[in-house]
Amino acid sequence: MRTRPANKWSVADSTALYGINQWGEGNFSISAKGEVNITIPFAGGKVAIPVIDIIQSARDRDHQLPLLLRVENLLDARIAEINETFQQAIQDAEYTGTYSGVFPVKVNQQRTVIEEISHFGADCGHGLEAGSKAELLLCLAKLNETGLLICNGNKDQDFIDLGLWANKLGHRCFFVIESPIELPLIIERSQKLGIRPLLGLRIKVSTKVAGLWTETSGDRSSFGLSTAQLIATVDELRQAGMVDCLQLLHCHLGSQIPDITEIRTAVREASRFYADLAAENIPLKYLDLGGGLAVDYIGNQSLHSHSRNYNLGDYCRCIVETIKETLSPHKIDHPVIITESGRATVAHTSILLFNILNVMRYEPMTLPSSSPENCHPLVEQQYKLYKNATEVNLTGGYTEALTNRDRIRELFKSGDIRLRERALAENLVLAIFNTLSERLDRLEEIPVSLSELKPILADIYYGNFSVFQSLPDTWAIGQMFPIMPIQRLDEFPERNASISDLTCDCDGKLDRFLLAGGESKTLPVHPLNRGEDYILGVFLMGAYQETLGDLHNLFGDTNVINIRINEDGGFDIIEEQSGDTISEVLNMLEYNPISFYKEFRDKIELAVKQKRISVAERQQILTQFSAQLNGQTYFKSR
Ligand SMILES: *Cc1c(COP(=O)(O)O)cnc(C)c1O
Repeated sequence: MRTRPANKWSVADSTALYGINQWGEGNFSISAKGEVNITIPFAGGKVAIPVIDIIQSARDRDHQLPLLLRVENLLDARIAEINETFQQAIQDAEYTGTYSGVFPVKVNQQRTVIEEISHFGADCGHGLEAGSKAELLLCLAKLNETGLLICNGNKDQDFIDLGLWANKLGHRCFFVIESPIELPLIIERSQKLGIRPLLGLRIKVSTKVAGLWTETSGDRSSFGLSTAQLIATVDELRQAGMVDCLQLLHCHLGSQIPDITEIRTAVREASRFYADLAAENIPLKYLDLGGGLAVDYIGNQSLHSHSRNYNLGDYCRCIVETIKETLSPHKIDHPVIITESGRATVAHTSILLFNILNVMRYEPMTLPSSSPENCHPLVEQQYKLYKNATEVNLTGGYTEALTNRDRIRELFKSGDIRLRERALAENLVLAIFNTLSERLDRLEEIPVSLSELKPILADIYYGNFSVFQSLPDTWAIGQMFPIMPIQRLDEFPERNASISDLTCDCDGKLDRFLLAGGESKTLPVHPLNRGEDYILGVFLMGAYQETLGDLHNLFGDTNVINIRINEDGGFDIIEEQSGDTISEVLNMLEYNPISFYKEFRDKIELAVKQKRISVAERQQILTQFSAQLNGQTYFKSR
């Protein structure tokens, strides 16, 4: 239980509690009705659509929860914003080069996302970045005519041939050389096909950045050329008469860089590389600074690994000004600036929505009005503590209750306490904890010795989703996303909860939350209302999650809908994808659903022969089995 504040709870209180105005950056807000809205600015004013209306629309088309919602307007807005902000910084700094963004496909390879980026990006020349052969093919098919195509990652002969052909087709396709072994093959293939390549070199800057992805930067990073290798590669190119192909310098420091000082230091170092190579008469034109532009998942503009101490304007100015300052004294032309922002481009576009199936509360069931006769002295002692819980010393009472609980469990294991006594004792300890917890609420500050009390009493809300399929980074690297109820935000959220998913894995949970007050082990939520769905939304989860997700416990893809919000206040469903059926998931693991069905039918037939079931029952079982093969992997609400 959370202590009810003295004043009536309002939408403004929810807004502050969940920090939606900070991380939402104007895209999300809470309406007077207490519902989360998606807000899109149009020339004629803002349009706000309640998330619950979109869910209803999906349901009308038989797409049940869990549902992944993508909002195309939010993707367009990010691309426009990144391009416009760089233009502005370039203008303000009187920088003479231009900006050319690319989207790294690995951050979200979904067709609808790539198609929208390519389509919307055509006007501002926003291109794509590929890191593998499969991604290259995808880019070749989908890239607009104006954007750059940057190829990082390992390249074999087929990769190189296709990239060379792309240049003949009119694309500007750059091979970024990551390792010295790539160059001989590129030279050989380009001579063979008679197509000159566009080349870039990936450098290792010595600047190491903080955050969750520090390993991408520094000497021991597995990507890029050391300075010695860089010079050797340049000399090799000169010898092959191909130094004119070398037009781009690339570095990527890692993702989600919280500190702009580190970005500035790295950009300065990269610019120094650029300046000295340019001084050697290498016709460089492009400086590619990779990804790293952070998303403020908390919204507090801090150095926390989930935040950043800068905004987009600061980022663009920092890059533009640092390059200019470093190059201008040497009279070197300002390069075209490329950035490969992935996370910052797509994070906002996707929201995962799931319903709560069940709740576990850590509250005692009924307790007897006096301790039972002949019960074990330790249980008796716990009973006394329960009766005095409103008066005992807080820390002392807490420690004693815990010690008693653990000793009672030991005595149960050794056969000295009976099952029913243990059940009573478990109820008692919960009753004691709940009373102490209520008393704790009246204190100004929670003593360190009692910091575990609230979390052990928190409810568990069981959600209809899989962490491993939909939010794999929360499990793999401790990523946190903003998460909150999407309705009832005009009501006081009187419960504290952690969230468990559908998998049978103790890692399938969310138990670290970003709240406006800081990081918390529990999320404030509302008690479920009978007969009513309780729906939580996980926001800013459009980057990296979809293809990293896996089939743990065979939970497959959720349903997906893409919407576009219109100026007239409505929205269109642009695309709807049904989640994986059980038979599709089984197919991925090499089961053949047809023979699978037959094997089961044979078993049923045998049961009929052995008279364990009737023929009518056989039909019933088979119908259900086959319907489930075509059904989805998630929990179906009645
Ligand atoms: C992953 C990656 C990116 C994307 O980084 P974000 O931090 O998501 O913007 C950019 N460039 C390269 C080379 C990458 O590997």
